[in-house]
Amino acid sequence: MDSTEGNYVYVILGEEIILIDTGRPKNGEGILNDLKSLNINPKDVKHILITHNDFDHIGSLAFLEQATGAKIWASKEDIPVICGENHEGIKRIIKYIVKVKKPENINAYPEDLKIGDIKVIPTPGHTRGHVSLLYKDIMFIGDLFRTPKGKITSMMSFSNWNNQIIKESIAKIDEYDFEWICPAHGEPIKRDGHLKDFIKKISD
Ligand SMILES: [Zn+2]
Repeated sequence: MDSTEGNYVYVILGEEIILIDTGRPKNGEGILNDLKSLNINPKDVKHILITHNDFDHIGSLAFLEQATGAKIWASKEDIPVICGENHEGIKRIIKYIVKVKKPENINAYPEDLKIGDIKVIPTPGHTRGHVSLLYKDIMFIGDLFRTPKGKITSMMSFSNWNNQIIKESIAKIDEYDFEWICPAHGEPIKRDGHLKDFIKKISD
């Protein structure tokens, strides 16, 4: 959505209206305005799907939960941090700098990994429980990697929980059929061949 440029929140207008991530704290009003400009009433949003537990993805979760009444979903690995447990490593410091309100209710992704017409694909690495979300021919990759100026680029390695596992996760989404890649950071890009070459590059 426009108000979250560079740190994107996406809205899916499928069988049900679904939000992917919620941006930073204080992004909530802007997101509601964007929905309004699409003629979407906040109460029409049925689900909010979280790709992972970083503050720039869950920052406005509590606000949007209140405003929409949507059902909130995240991976069982990432839920404890969303609910206030400490991050591991350097990210634990951010918690003291950026205050994030906790949601009232949060659900772990179901066993069948399906929410409406979206498939949830576990892609750990950036965080333990990071997921990517496949809708039709679009893969929403959260922070699996980023695409500044349309170029596939690794996330800063210090911000990743496990750099080796990220490579495995990228190889995993490479098995799926999709045409578009929508990252949180960078711009949506058209898939150009396989992601194998990129994985090789980050292996060097
Ligand atoms: Zn992020």
